Amino acid sequence: MSAVWAAEGLVAGVPAGTVLRSAVFQLSVPSDAPDQTTCPRCAAAMPRWFVIRCGHCGHHFGALGGLELVTAIVLGLLFGRFGGRPDMLAFCFLGALGVALAAIDLSVQRLPDRLVLPAYPVVIVLLAFAALTGHTEGDLGRALLGGLVLGGMYLALALLRPGGIGGGDVKLAGLAGIALGWLGWPTLMAGAALGFMLSAAVSLTLIAVRRLTLQSTISFGPFLLAGALLASLAVAR
Ligand SMILES: [Zn+2]
Repeated sequence: MSAVWAAEGLVAGVPAGTVLRSAVFQLSVPSDAPDQTTCPRCAAAMPRWFVIRCGHCGHHFGALGGLELVTAIVLGLLFGRFGGRPDMLAFCFLGALGVALAAIDLSVQRLPDRLVLPAYPVVIVLLAFAALTGHTEGDLGRALLGGLVLGGMYLALALLRPGGIGGGDVKLAGLAGIALGWLGWPTLMAGAALGFMLSAAVSLTLIAVRRLTLQSTISFGPFLLAGALLASLAVAR
């Protein structure tokens, strides 16, 4: 891991987190509801960008600095791992998008198509660009196949056990599978396994402390994303 790149990622993550804030704010609504554009407390109009606090009643949107902090950590790790490589852009784009998706999923249990679906062509183009320019461990064909494999695996799980894994998780799994497949089959398998292990560990802990019952469902997106992040970071150069 390159310390200089990691430091740059940390610094870049703070403004990036502030930009993500507006998407998280607007899309943290039930799937059939219109975008959130007004303050949840006093209903005053919120700014289009840089949604930090309501200018009317002072209500802070979300934990102060939380999104910026998480984005800074994620981008710091990804810059450190991928810094200077041609596939860096694809992974940093996915890292930032992943933070926004995890925040939305935790707040309203959905992964909006409007963020997930356009990310497919963006990531494929960025990886195709990386494949053309550089010497990396990446392989575009394997990436596309990885998307099919992980997306297919989640689709099978969603069909087997309706109510657990949802359609949003399946579409996100396809996207994560492209990134993990690019890095190799062991990374893809590790990412998939880590997602389920993290979800099981957190669910069991919450059941143990009685914050959750066996019948509860919790958002799976953040675990899928965290597993994919850890697996992408863990591979040796
Ligand atoms: Zn307000």
